[in-house]
Amino acid sequence: MMITSRQLTLAGIAALALVWGLLPEFTLTVMSYIGLYALVAAGLVMLTGVGGMTSFGQAAFVGLGAYATAWVCTSPWVAAWLPAGFPRALLPWVGLLLGLLVTYGVARFLGSVTLRLSGHYLPLGTIAWGLSIYYIFGNLDVLGGFTGITGLPPLTLGSLSFATPLYLGPVIWGVLLLALWALHNLLDSREGRAIRALKGGRVMAESMGVDTAHYRIKLFVLAALLAALSGWLYAHLQRFVNPTPFNINIGIEYLFMAVVGGAGYLWGAVLGALLITLLKEQLQDWLPRLLGSSGNFEIIVFGLLMLVVLQRFADGLWPRLNHWSARWLRPDTRQAAPSVRPVTLAQRTLPPAGEVILQSRDVSRRFGGLLANDAVNMTLKAGEVHALIGPNGAGKSTFFNMISGVDTPSSGEVRLMGAVMQGKPSREFAALGLGRTFQHVRLLGQRSVLENVALGAHRRGRQGWIASMLRLDRAEEAAILAEARRQIERCGLGDLADRPAASLALGQQRVVEIARALAGQPAALLLDEPAAGLRHLEKQALAVLLDQLRSEGLGILVVEHDMEFVMNLADRITVLEFGAVIAEGTPAQVQANPRVLDAYLGGSDDLAGAAA
Ligand code: ADP
Ligand code: MG
Repeated sequence: MMITSRQLTLAGIAALALVWGLLPEFTLTVMSYIGLYALVAAGLVMLTGVGGMTSFGQAAFVGLGAYATAWVCTSPWVAAWLPAGFPRALLPWVGLLLGLLVTYGVARFLGSVTLRLSGHYLPLGTIAWGLSIYYIFGNLDVLGGFTGITGLPPLTLGSLSFATPLYLGPVIWGVLLLALWALHNLLDSREGRAIRALKGGRVMAESMGVDTAHYRIKLFVLAALLAALSGWLYAHLQRFVNPTPFNINIGIEYLFMAVVGGAGYLWGAVLGALLITLLKEQLQDWLPRLLGSSGNFEIIVFGLLMLVVLQRFADGLWPRLNHWSARWLRPDTRQAAPSVRPVTLAQRTLPPAGEVILQSRDVSRRFGGLLANDAVNMTLKAGEVHALIGPNGAGKSTFFNMISGVDTPSSGEVRLMGAVMQGKPSREFAALGLGRTFQHVRLLGQRSVLENVALGAHRRGRQGWIASMLRLDRAEEAAILAEARRQIERCGLGDLADRPAASLALGQQRVVEIARALAGQPAALLLDEPAAGLRHLEKQALAVLLDQLRSEGLGILVVEHDMEFVMNLADRITVLEFGAVIAEGTPAQVQANPRVLDAYLGGSDDLAGAAA
């Protein structure tokens, strides 16, 4: 049977819809819960698997969604406050609105507080507020304390009533599938690339013009809203709420689901919810019989199981399932919407050759007692290649960070396109036309070369999250991908565009970084050791490319160890030693400078050799 995974998915959904009415009540209930859990887990896939932020506290957001509607539907205060004759059937929808609003507010606040925490402090922070919200539910009298609220009405829409799993289940699964579709679209867009870039480290993402703090909060809010939506449906399925299902150990279970299913994969959320829910059913039946007493033993079994899964299948089960099913599934050959006509991306007019684009004035950087940069002056002009050289530890990387917004000078001034820039984040450098590569390559290894390079054009697009989710971004996306492909071909990697970046040789990965920088249409290009790891022919090709870019009017600053490469290519050279500039001039002038020859001691052969 040769069908694609897409067709299989659609067939599965159709089959489920057909037999739904024939399933026993108990199965329908379990299926409905799986859908509810998967909705929360899908948010966690986005947050944890894609965005790299771990949260144990999602159950609290489910609770906000559930309690909001429970309160609205049952509170005499609400009934008194609403206009007389307000149809009671609309109360759950008011509850949904309130739940989403409250969750939005709480998630924004908690996000702005906790997401600043780094490393293990972030998950610990989520445990802290997860517990707090649980106890708030339990201790608020208006929410019924630990007894909760009973007597919720069923969801109704016109004359339709969704009172039982038979009717509410399809709504739940409909919402889930819609959410998966929207999230899938989001990940497959300009904004999705920016979200994935969060995992590549803040420095890289910010250099591509992504406001990482903003994206982290947005992702956090998105996951929270999905949880609240699940809570709203849950409340009207269960028809009563109490704090127990919103406790921190349920929060841990949600994370189990995402991780076991495959934290980087949306369908992994469904698989994880399915497995954990069924397993929990079984364990709750069997464990008390085996152990002869009742208690939450399944949580211990879960913990052990999670360890095993993470040991054996670090990426969760979904990629395994995918890999295994690939044998008998036809690959999806969906083209990126050939019918749309690409829009024109934002273009930058490059400054005329010879104009100063990047300038440092007396830039110093102190690390404790060490003066890593000592009043460094340097200018980069449009249409020139400027090389920064110096022995190891001379302060080149420190300076590079200072003029690209990664670090702030202790004193001195950095100007880009005439604007004073010290203290500003690197995304503002990117906005003004600075493109850069990294000494230690920072690519998303699992993503294709094309995707990596397209991230470089992030700033040139406009479409936001909602447009991406609804697929309204296709014309712009086509333009971005076309631009990325153009830069890849120009850099000589056209054949490798669809390969995962990590499968390329290190030297090629450096070139991918150059292509990524070029996709942002920079005026100033900063390259940290671009020739390292390149073979002789590749170095020559790189020199030809940089020469071409120079003639197009780019200003290029290279930090490089390969003297032959530098001497043949650079128009001007600045030499650093112990953080200070000891020489500046043309390659010929620098090579004749006795201080430079001294500084290089053993390396003087290198210089002389390159001169010959
Ligand atoms: P280069 O790139 O020329 O090899 P660097 O700029 O990396 O030199 O380092 C210059 C000096 O500053 C070195 O002595 C290094 O140990 C020191 N240094 C660099 N970064 C830091 C830091 N974050 N904290 C403390 N010292 C640093
Ligand atoms: Mg360095």
